[in-house]
Amino acid sequence: MKLFNTLTKKLEEIKPNESGIITMYNCGPTVYSHQHIGNYRAYANWDILHRALVYLGYNVKRIMNITDVGHLTSDEDFGEDKMLKGARKLGVSDPYEVANFFTKSFLKDMYLLNMWSPSGRSMVENFDLSELKEFGWIRATASIEPMIEIIKSMEEKGYVYETEQAVYFDVTKYPEYTELSGQKLEDKLVGVRDDVNVDSKKKNPADFVLWMKRYGTYADHSMHWNSPWGDGFPGWHIECSAMGIEYLGQFISIHTGGIEHIPVHHTNERAQNYGALQKEVVNIWVHNEHMQAKGGEKLGKSLGNALTIDEVTALGYDPMDLRWLLISVNYKIPLKFSEEALDGAKNSRLGVINRLKEKLGSGDREGGVVLDEFKKLFEVALHDNLNMSEAFSIFLEVVKSRESTKDIFATVSDFDRVFGLRIIESLEEKVEAEIPSDIAQLLKDREVARNTKDFVSSDRLRDEILDKGYVVKDTPNGQVVEKQ
Ligand code: AMP
Ligand code: ZN
Repeated sequence: MKLFNTLTKKLEEIKPNESGIITMYNCGPTVYSHQHIGNYRAYANWDILHRALVYLGYNVKRIMNITDVGHLTSDEDFGEDKMLKGARKLGVSDPYEVANFFTKSFLKDMYLLNMWSPSGRSMVENFDLSELKEFGWIRATASIEPMIEIIKSMEEKGYVYETEQAVYFDVTKYPEYTELSGQKLEDKLVGVRDDVNVDSKKKNPADFVLWMKRYGTYADHSMHWNSPWGDGFPGWHIECSAMGIEYLGQFISIHTGGIEHIPVHHTNERAQNYGALQKEVVNIWVHNEHMQAKGGEKLGKSLGNALTIDEVTALGYDPMDLRWLLISVNYKIPLKFSEEALDGAKNSRLGVINRLKEKLGSGDREGGVVLDEFKKLFEVALHDNLNMSEAFSIFLEVVKSRESTKDIFATVSDFDRVFGLRIIESLEEKVEAEIPSDIAQLLKDREVARNTKDFVSSDRLRDEILDKGYVVKDTPNGQVVEKQ
C-alpha cells in the first residue's frame, strides 16, 4: 500500500520491519475531556487503515497512546496541565480520576463507532481499564521509566541541557529539526507566545521540555516522579518516542496524527528519536486533515464547536451514520461537518440497507462467492493511499449490480470487513423508510402550520410534498408520509 509521507511529500510504499511486520503508532487522546467528532475522524481513519492492511494480507502491530500526563494547554512548554484543568472542571482533585473517567468515555465511543482496538481485538461494551495494554492502548503514566531512559540516552549523546526549571532538547544540535514542517527555525522563535512562565535560561525558543521539574509554576504539580534531574514530570512529546520504541521497536512503519502535530509534536518526536538512537525511527509520517466547521475552522474541544458522540446520538443519528461520514473520504481531504452532511451519510447508509433488504430472499445469505472483478478494483483503491471515495463507489456499484443476490451479499459482507459499517447486522434491524431532508423539513413546517390552524399553508405544503413525489396523510398519530 502507498501512503502520503509528510516528510518527503510523496506517496510511498509502506515498509515492514525486519520481522515482516507493519508497525503502526497512532497519536491518541489526551483524556482530560470527552473526545469529539473531529478526534474520531482521526481514529476512524487509522481504524480503516488497520482493517485495510489486514484485509490486504499485511501482518500488523499497532499501538495508540493515551496521554494522561504532561500535555500542557498550549502544546508548547508552559501552560496549565490539561489533566489538572480537567480535574478543576470535573470538580475532583485527583487527576487519575479524571484520566479514568475520560478514558472510559473514549472507549465507550470507540465501541459505539465499531472501531477495532489497536491490537485488532473488537471493542467490548464495558471495558475493564486493567486490560488497556492487551488491547493496544498505552497510558503515558505507565511508561515513565522508558521516558527517563530515553532522555538519559539523549543526554549522553549531548542533545540536552538542564536549567533550574527543566531539561530541554537543544534543537541547534539537530540540523534536520525543521524538515518535517518545512518551517524555518527563525519562524519558530515566535511560536511560544503562550508561554506564561518563560524560563530565562532556555537557550533557544524552539528548544522543548523533556523533563519539567517541580519548580516555579509547577512547584506543587500533583503528578510527579523521581528522575536523575529531580522530582517532576515528563514533557508531552517524550511519551510518543518512548512508547513507540518500547512497544514497536526501532523501526516504525507508519506514524499517524492530525496535521496540527506536524510543526511541534511530531517535529519534536523525530528530534528525540534521532537524539536517542542516531537514526530515523519512523519510516512514513502520515497526517490526517481536520474535520472542520462549516466556515472551514478546525473542530476542536477547546474551540467549543465540536459535538461529542452522545450529542450526535441524541440528535437521532446512529453511530454508523457518523462512521459512514468519517470514512467516506480520504484522510488528506478536509471534511466539513454539518447536520446536512450527516443526513446525507444517513440517507446513503439507509438507502444501501433498504436496497439489500428488498433484494434478499431467505436463502440468499449462504453459498455466495465474492465477486472477483469488484474485489480486485476494491483492493486497488485501498492500495492507492486508502482511496475511500473510490472504494465506496465500487461498493455502491456492487449493491446496485445485477449479479446474483447471493454473490452481492457475499461481496458486501467482504467489503464491510474494511468499512466496519455493520451492514450485515443492520439488515436484521427494522429500518425506517428513507425520508430526504427537504421532505422532512416540509413535514416539520406543515406540522407547525397544522398546530396553529393555518390550513392554507398546511394544504400548500401538502401539495409541495406531493410535487416532490411523497404522499402525506393525516392520522390520529400525526402525519404519515409515503413515497408515491
Ligand atoms: P487530542 O485529544 O486533542 O490530543 O487529539 C487527539 C487526536 O485527534 C489527535 O491525533 C489530533 O490530531 C486529532 N484531532 C483533533 N481535532 C481534530 C479535528 N478537528 N479533525 C481531525 N482530527 C483531529
Ligand atoms: Zn503523540
